[in-house]
Amino acid sequence: MYQEVAENIFLVKIPLPNSPLKFLNSYFIRSNHPDSKNMVIDGGFNHPDCKEAFEKAMDALDFAYENTNFVATHLHGDHFAMFSAMDKEITLFLGRLDLEYLEKKVEKNSAQEVDRSDEISATSALFGMPEEYAEVVMRAQFMQNRNWQTEHIRAIEAGDKFVVGQYSFEAILFKGHTPGHIALYENDKKILICGDHILGKISPNITYWESELDSLGNYLESLFFSKQLHVEKLLCGHRSNEFDMYQRIEEIFDHHTQRLGEVVDILTAESRKMTAFEVASKMTWKVAEDMWSKYSKEQHWFATGEALAHLEYLFKRDKIKKYIDGGTYYYTANETTIDTGGE
Ligand SMILES: [Zn+2]
Repeated sequence: MYQEVAENIFLVKIPLPNSPLKFLNSYFIRSNHPDSKNMVIDGGFNHPDCKEAFEKAMDALDFAYENTNFVATHLHGDHFAMFSAMDKEITLFLGRLDLEYLEKKVEKNSAQEVDRSDEISATSALFGMPEEYAEVVMRAQFMQNRNWQTEHIRAIEAGDKFVVGQYSFEAILFKGHTPGHIALYENDKKILICGDHILGKISPNITYWESELDSLGNYLESLFFSKQLHVEKLLCGHRSNEFDMYQRIEEIFDHHTQRLGEVVDILTAESRKMTAFEVASKMTWKVAEDMWSKYSKEQHWFATGEALAHLEYLFKRDKIKKYIDGGTYYYTANETTIDTGGE
């Protein structure tokens, strides 16, 4: 019923309602040793459909909660939210940098300095998005169930070892998709459980997090590092695992190089101050022509975050200029001179 992708490693497809990704690949690793626990990597949204599929797999594969370690590769809702909201006492692990990011959010929100709608409004202003976007994003699925419980989560450091029966996994830090995305590498068997760091067909979404975080720069560095690993079996967070990892890495590099060039071309051609939202609307999205106008507001939000990650990457390397005005970021090509109103 569940595909055994390697000895004692089972792939469990968890449905993701309202997500274009459709399914999460959750990996159930059975320990055949009394000294070590089972391990489950990634869980799904905090949504009844995810829970149902998950509990069914726990039963069918005969995994007891108290005898299993739960690991989320990163803080995104489709990997982490169900684990974090589990009504059972479980041992849950998350990369330290992702955990710190969540703790900072929880602290900020509980201090009542900002509530979620203020936060979304501020981000949409920073993006340069029209006002009506904030409300749509506020109601979106990916924004729900964000009342994280972080007290019981254990931090994973790069280099941490997890012995699961016949396997010994080492945690690797692959920053970029999130501030502290981790992967698990089995050096003997050459298995890499990589979350959303590398995906076949879809390029992992690299978005803007905070201006101090160079998310695209971090991601490309992590991607370069993953190229050096000897991997014979790659196990991804979504879709099929049947592709050549090394070739896929090159394709993802090409994708971002092309994107960076496109962003510079847009700024150069327009020769004016542009917001991330304006730049995003002029970029090529997917294969169909004029995809931007067909995208929903939610998709515009993601696309703008991605455009901003590319803009920030270029700005941090002096390839373009940046201006901040009233909470909004603007960018120009280096050769564009703008009228600052005589100030
Ligand atoms: Zn994911």
